Formats: sequence, structure tokens, C-alpha cells
Amino acid sequence: KTDLDIIIIGAGPIGIACALECKKHNWNYAVIEKGALTNSLFNYPLNMTFFSTSEKLEIDDIPFISNNPKPTRNEALEYYRRVATSNQLNIKLYEEVATINKVENHFEVITSKSHYKAKKVIIATGFYDIPNLLNVPGEDLPKVFHYYKEAHPFTLQNIAVVGASNSSVDAALEIYRKGGNVTMIVRGESIGERVKYWVRPDIINRIEEGSIKAYFNSEIIKIEKHQITVKTPDGEIILPNDYVVALTGYQPNFKFLNKAGIEFSKDERHIPFYDDKTMESNIKGLYLAGVICGGMETHKWFIENSRIHAKMIAEHIKLKQKL
Ligand code: FAD
Repeated sequence: KTDLDIIIIGAGPIGIACALECKKHNWNYAVIEKGALTNSLFNYPLNMTFFSTSEKLEIDDIPFISNNPKPTRNEALEYYRRVATSNQLNIKLYEEVATINKVENHFEVITSKSHYKAKKVIIATGFYDIPNLLNVPGEDLPKVFHYYKEAHPFTLQNIAVVGASNSSVDAALEIYRKGGNVTMIVRGESIGERVKYWVRPDIINRIEEGSIKAYFNSEIIKIEKHQITVKTPDGEIILPNDYVVALTGYQPNFKFLNKAGIEFSKDERHIPFYDDKTMESNIKGLYLAGVICGGMETHKWFIENSRIHAKMIAEHIKLKQKL
């Protein structure tokens, strides 16, 4: 069993920021990551552009230089990779944390590869691993995707894009421009208010001119091999369909947090409990960092406003509970 001061779960931007703090304080730490380094960013669409400017994605004031004001996925991968490797951070990849148990004054952390003992644990596991499902018949068909990577496979095909937020709008526009026949199925009455301000007019104009079809106040109710059934305000319609790209958001792994003993707000937002001055959860010595703190409100925290969590946690560990 490895004995550590601190275990950080998740090597996303915020987990990496926490590791930099641990290194600075000479704490004996390890980051444990179930996938590749910055696994969520790795799984973003290949041509994705961030809504933040690059300096807002910087951690620990390490400069993030990008060619344009808003960096791309590839530039972000380059940045966080370089930060992790040049600082020789202790990161264990392709190792999933299964359970965190508090035993007296320490934590036992069991992973897919090993057992660890740590004085403190920081959970920075984000929300990108569990998609919000449509819960309709046919959703399990191989033609349905909850993650979007690139447009090429969809050229000359009938594609339904579900949702009207940034991910759906980016996917709809890209697939349309690569020769796919795109229909958006949107539960609300319009394109999302939070869609990047320079993209929103583009999608609205494409819909108005009829290049991309859109059904608002509508939902898919059934998916079959060559068609979908959509409930619209004018009744049910059947559309020919080859692929469904359902980008209806993601949610944190509540089961994992629950098992660790974290408490949540009792409403549908499901916000995990933490002290907003220290980021300590209801369990002493167990901290939350990054976008996981929003619970179901996954738009509330992003890199830009949650990177500060790393320093808040380090301060608390240093001042209040000397290691
Ligand atoms: P993540 O980056 O999600 O990292 C969590 C890590 O934990 C993952 O690598 C995951 O594999 C790992 N993990 C999960 N469970 C376990 C486990 N049990 N054991 C081990 N490892 C585990 N934010 C911005 O600030 N600006 C933007 O422009 C922006 N654009 C975005 C675009 C998209 C399409 C999406 C989905 C998000 C965007 N965000 C943006 C939000 C931001 O990218 C994410 O919020 C960011 O990745 C959060 O960082 P994080 O470190 O908190 O979590």
C-alpha cells in the first residue's frame, strides 16, 4: 500500500492545477486518472474552439500562448500536456479510482491497479463521463451518439442533432458544412442563450434560410434503424434518419461521490456540499475541485472560474491542518 500526503483524483485542468500546488509545497502526492491526460479535453470534438481566451485557461500563471484569442482543443492539449510534463508532475494514467473510505484520520483509496493511503483526498473528476440520456426506445442502437468527434462520417447522411447548446450548435453547423443533411430537434423554444456570441447568428441564419432544419418545442420519442419519430407542437412526425447525435449535456458521477459520503442539496440541482472558502466537503480532509462542484448545474463552473480552487485547497491544507 502506497502512503501519501495527498491523492488527487482526475488529471483534468483543475487536477493538474492541484498537483502544481502540492509540488510547490513539497507534499507527497499523486494524481490518479482513469483515462489519458486531460481525458475530457481529449474527448472533445476535434475542431472544438474554447469560449474562453487562452489566458483564462492558464493554471498557476504559466503562460498559455495560442495563435488566436480563443484556443482550440489541440492547443489546450498541448498546453496542459506541457505543464504536466515539464513540471514532472506525479500522474498515474489509466487507473480508475473505485472507492474512497475514510478510516480514522486518513483515507484508503482503492483503484483498478492498487491501494493507497492518504491524509487528504481532492476529487476533481469533472462531469464529462456520463451523458444525460434521452430515455427513448432505440437509444441503444449503434447509430446514436452522445459524444461528437468530427463531421466526416455524416456526409451525405440524414442527421438529427438533439439539443441547442454550444455542443449541439457546433456539431450541427460543422456537419451541415461537410455535406450532411441536418435536422435539429430542440426541446426549448429557441437556440440556447449561452451559445458562443459569435456562433449564435450563424446557426440562426442557417435555420432561417432553411439550410439546417429545426423543430423547436419538440422531442424525439422513438429511434428506429432508418427513421425517428418526433413529437412537435403540430403532432408526431416521422423523419428519415441515419444517425442521431444527442448532445443533451452530461452529469457528474453522483454514485461515486455518494459512496465517498458526500452530501448533496436536496433539490434537482444536486449540488455536492463544500465550504466555499476552503472547498472542503462535509467529510474532513476530503476536498472538491473544478466543475464537479456544480452538481447538475454543469454550466456554473468552468476552467476560468474554478482554477482558483487549487490554491484555496492548498491554503487550507497548509494553514489549518499542517501535514
Ligand atoms: P475534467 O477536465 O472533466 O477532468 C476530470 C478528470 O477526472 C477526467 O480526466 C476524468 O477522466 C477523470 N476521472 C473521472 N472519474 C475518475 C475516477 N473515478 N478515477 C480516476 N479519474 C477519474 N471551460 C472553460 O473554462 N472554457 C471553455 O471554453 C470551455 N469549453 C468547453 C467545451 C465543452 C465541449 C465542454 C464539455 C466543456 C467546456 N468547458 C470550458 C468546461 C471545461 O472544459 C471543463 O469544465 C473542464 O474540463 C473542467 O476541468 P476539471 O479538471 O474540473 O474536469
